[in-house]
Amino acid sequence: MNKEQNRRRFMSLVGGTFAGGWAGAAFADPQEPDLIVYNAKVQTVDNVMPKAQAFAVRSGRFVAVGSNDIKNLAGKKTQSYDAKGMMIVPGFIDAHNHGGGEELLYDVLVGNPYDVELVSIDSIVAKLKAKAQTLPPGTWVEGFFLDDTKLKDKRPLNIHDLDKATTDHPVMVLHRGGHTAFFNSKAFQMAGVTQNTPNPYGGTYDKDAAGALNGRVTDKAMASLQKVGSRESFTPAQKQKRQLDGVAFISKKFVQYGLTTVHHNEVGVLEAMQEQRLRGNLLHRVSYEMNGDLLEAMIKTGIETGFGDEWIRLGATSEHTVDGSLSERTMAMSRPYIGISPPYKGNLTETQDDLNAWCERVHRANIRLNCHANGEVAIDRTLTAYERALKLYPRADTRPKITHCSMINDQLVRRMKALNVVPAMFSTYPYYNSDKFHFYGEEMMRHMIAFRTMIDAGIVPAAGSDFGPGPFAPLMAIQAMVTRTGWNGETWGANQKITLDEAIKVNTINGAYNAREEKDKGSITVGKLADYVVLADDLHSVAPAKIKDVKIVRTVVGGRTAYQA
Ligand SMILES: [Zn+2]
Repeated sequence: MNKEQNRRRFMSLVGGTFAGGWAGAAFADPQEPDLIVYNAKVQTVDNVMPKAQAFAVRSGRFVAVGSNDIKNLAGKKTQSYDAKGMMIVPGFIDAHNHGGGEELLYDVLVGNPYDVELVSIDSIVAKLKAKAQTLPPGTWVEGFFLDDTKLKDKRPLNIHDLDKATTDHPVMVLHRGGHTAFFNSKAFQMAGVTQNTPNPYGGTYDKDAAGALNGRVTDKAMASLQKVGSRESFTPAQKQKRQLDGVAFISKKFVQYGLTTVHHNEVGVLEAMQEQRLRGNLLHRVSYEMNGDLLEAMIKTGIETGFGDEWIRLGATSEHTVDGSLSERTMAMSRPYIGISPPYKGNLTETQDDLNAWCERVHRANIRLNCHANGEVAIDRTLTAYERALKLYPRADTRPKITHCSMINDQLVRRMKALNVVPAMFSTYPYYNSDKFHFYGEEMMRHMIAFRTMIDAGIVPAAGSDFGPGPFAPLMAIQAMVTRTGWNGETWGANQKITLDEAIKVNTINGAYNAREEKDKGSITVGKLADYVVLADDLHSVAPAKIKDVKIVRTVVGGRTAYQA
């Protein structure tokens, strides 16, 4: 066929499928695509044409999606990729992630960040001891990625274990959830905290049965210990190198697992991301969620959410913390936790007045609100502040975000729907943290990480791994959402299961919607960014309990291969 025949053939091919508005984009100049992918089982996540065999990419965007006839659009410079029947889905989007590559590369990791792995307390102590020997007395020795239910010893880490690592250095082992930590005696001594020190607002110094400090400290109480002593120091050049290495490392990891966009929550990494982008080492797209100096600068200078481009864009604020943690059992609930005495309902870390003031100030600056709220008491408090701010300064399509939004009830769901709140809910937890759900029990778990309830209510929930607290693998997330069954075989809150196709949406288009980027991302649609993932097996044909093991064959961002198995 000549070019004109090609063009007519192409028009007949897509003409019946595409709505009129899209045809313009489709015919922009499809004759010379940079890349054509064919023989694929394309799950487009586009309701207008849910399945396709082939697509064409030009200048980093999809320019045609349809049948294998798209092959005929190939020009001299067009590259072709025969997908050999493999499944292709839009690039996965993680709507809540702390992505600390620097920590992964350079710090002491006492647990496995990426998957379920049981470790011994002895191995943790040995790693801390080795680190202590490299540091002068009085300097902090820190361990990361502890998971209290992934210990072979089947008992919690305690102050006595950590005293075995060193008595000359303060020691902190941070739970991967980030809301609790375990300290040695030296750390408590340096901070002047004893068993008689009262708990501060929003946190606790936990005690053993005899009333002595057991080493565990929760939420807002951690700061009183962390502020004493000195930390390993680095020159500005060393610090910069660590940050740059960290960004490059985590970016490689993300695309290896199929993530093409990540909503980042870590502080002070924007500069390193921009630098690595210039150097060609930023492989995934970033929605940067800000706080601290950057948020203040934005409010002062009038920079709003949305500033940036399709690689790095300023998103919502980073999670403004209203309560504690799900995995560490400190979230603020209306009912007490099972088996804890005296009765404990979790930690609220922000008063209603302070939260109201923060939300008003941020929303007034036209920066998208984002609060961390797990328990239903914290979600209620957050919605109250959102309702107030949006009423004071009405704006179109604000989509205030709630990070986690874990435990809900009917009334909260109605209020969320009325404000079009976009939740970023734990994605891998139902698989990874199934060993913790007995702390809540089945009745509470029926209202926890409630994807089914949200979708049925017309809310658009996105997947938020919260990495480090949760592993970020999107296929683990999809398996968790579809099965609600964990690594230990336990199923909790099966009423919240969603279908495979719904789970794929949650991990793609819903993530785009969460950052108001659905016009550019989240589906394989003409005009959108050419971000996609090639999977070795069709997710529909593997057993649900094996979804997480399906191989990622290739991850493509903007038409460029970012990862290849
Ligand atoms: Zn988080």
